Amino acid sequence: MITILLNSIIVLGGIGLFLGALLGWLNRKYVSQEYTIVDEIEALLPLTQCAQCGYAGCRPYAEAIASGGALNQCPPGGEQTIANLAKLLGRPTQELNKAYGSAKPTGVALIDEQQCIGCTLCIPVCPVDAIVGAHQLMHTVLEEHCTGCELCVEPCPVDCITLIQARAT
Ligand code: SF4
Ligand code: SF4
Ligand code: SF4
Repeated sequence: MITILLNSIIVLGGIGLFLGALLGWLNRKYVSQEYTIVDEIEALLPLTQCAQCGYAGCRPYAEAIASGGALNQCPPGGEQTIANLAKLLGRPTQELNKAYGSAKPTGVALIDEQQCIGCTLCIPVCPVDAIVGAHQLMHTVLEEHCTGCELCVEPCPVDCITLIQARAT
């Protein structure tokens, strides 16, 4: 009787181990792989988070591409990014869709601190928290964090933010 019980425990334990390994394999094959392709697509995007592609940032656009969305909506990436995405995904390359903007070199924002009135309107629009300052105090841009997305330019009421070429490090 004890022998039968022990055999049953061993068999059930073996089945449990097998099912655990099977679930792990299925998770790696079907769940992790989906994340991996989005990650790979995102890594090819410029990561400025500028939203010119019509999505809230590079990650949502990467997810859209992974679901079959167009490759040609990222102006900062230009033709090279489209070519890289096409190669990764085995899809035909396309011309940049100019409806989303034109390709141009990415710069960094510079605030004219003499003109800044400290209204703070630029702070919430920055997707990477690159602007520091407080109400009625001069603001400044942390150049090493700025992606050059230009989202802070339009909200500034005194037009004291411009995009300049990034300094070489
Ligand atoms: S357009 Fe801007 S937000 Fe969209 S993928 Fe390109 S860099 Fe990222
Ligand atoms: S400082 Fe301006 S240009 Fe730079 S990342 Fe922030 S919003 Fe974009
Ligand atoms: S929006 Fe312009 S004026 Fe207002 S805090 Fe930012 S840089 Fe200064």
